[in-house]
Amino acid sequence: MDWESLSIVSSVLLFGFLENIFPFFDFKSTFNQRTYPNVLLGVINVIVNSLTIAVVLDWIWRQKIWLGFLHWVKLPWLSICISFLLLDLYLYVWHRMMHSFAFAWRFHKVHHTEMSMNTSTAYRFHTVEVISSNVPKLFLIWLFGIQPVHILIYELTLVIELVFHHSNWAIHKKVDKYLSYIIVTPNFHRLHHSQIFKESQSNYASFFSFWDRIFKSYSYPKYPKQIKLGLPQHSYDLNILKLILLPLKNN
Ligand SMILES: [Zn+2]
Ligand SMILES: [Zn+2]
Repeated sequence: MDWESLSIVSSVLLFGFLENIFPFFDFKSTFNQRTYPNVLLGVINVIVNSLTIAVVLDWIWRQKIWLGFLHWVKLPWLSICISFLLLDLYLYVWHRMMHSFAFAWRFHKVHHTEMSMNTSTAYRFHTVEVISSNVPKLFLIWLFGIQPVHILIYELTLVIELVFHHSNWAIHKKVDKYLSYIIVTPNFHRLHHSQIFKESQSNYASFFSFWDRIFKSYSYPKYPKQIKLGLPQHSYDLNILKLILLPLKNN
């Protein structure tokens, strides 16, 4: 098993266990209803991604001519930090764009149709969004000369963080609040999944929450238990086919 698969499996097992023992919301849907479309989407995305982006990335790494000031950064830890921040900032900008443009929202709303947010929601993304989000990222990697091993460090950490902040684990509210000053936490991200439009236009960060503070989109929920998750116009269970075809619908 490679490092990425290992971090996916271990984080899903750990946070999946915690959310079942200490749930934040008591969802009415069964475990199968909550997880099956997300797991299927996740598998499809991993397969399509490895057949497309991984091939392009491999080609980029084999090129002799690279741009990028990171080739001149001789301290490995500094290079890791800059790469991590660049990739995380990119994800913040991408996510905000998905909410700003009607066409992009058609695909991103698949993620927001989740009514019972849980660890598997970390994989509920439309395949088109997953693939297209990698195109500007490849350019960024090439432009700055981000090292493959540094991308891997970011991706592994992000995988664990995505599962953590989508989990239905009821961590202590003070711990959540203090952690949210640095990283994205479940309560912080729940507000982004709120049915109230204004609330969903906040907290776009994926790993470091300070991007939302810097770009004035930070908001911490006063009463996280009162957040209603999902999209009101799609307040019913969507199977895998409906999720894939959702961008074609006009509402
Ligand atoms: Zn979003
Ligand atoms: Zn989310």
